[in-house]
Formats: sequence, C-alpha cells, structure tokens
Amino acid sequence: MGATPEIDRIVHVGTTLTKLCPLCSRQRIGGDRFEEGVNHLLTDHGCVILHAGQETVTEANKPRQATIVVVGLPRDRGRVSS
Ligand SMILES: [Zn+2]
Repeated sequence: MGATPEIDRIVHVGTTLTKLCPLCSRQRIGGDRFEEGVNHLLTDHGCVILHAGQETVTEANKPRQATIVVVGLPRDRGRVSS
C-alpha cells in the first residue's frame, strides 16, 4: 500500500447517469445507485478511488451539480471473480 498501483482500467460513476458496471455487466451503477455502485466497485472488484468531486451537467438546459467518483482497477486485481 502507499504507492499508486498500476491501473488497468478506470471507471467513472456519477449521480446523473445509471449504467451497467463495465467490469461485470451485472450491477447497475450510478444515478440512484451511486453509493451502491461505488461500493460494488470497491468491494467486489477491488478498485481504488482515484478522484472524487463535482461536475456540472446540463439537464433540460439548466446547469446542475453532480457528484462523480473515478475509480481505477489495479492491474493485479484485473481478474474478475465471483
Ligand atoms: Zn461489477
């Protein structure tokens, strides 16, 4: 621990968009599944959080703030099990 692991893939999770987990296609992440999705990536895939913050999205021509988390899949965890 400590050193930044080598990252194989990054996954972006946001509060505005729900999508299928790109690592296993079995879990919906983001949107109203935001926390669930981040937890899924951390616990089920061993991802690490690279960035958490805000982004501005436009919805119906109105800007609004969304929360985003970017996680990385470390190379040594690249094999998806379960
Ligand atoms: Zn998954």
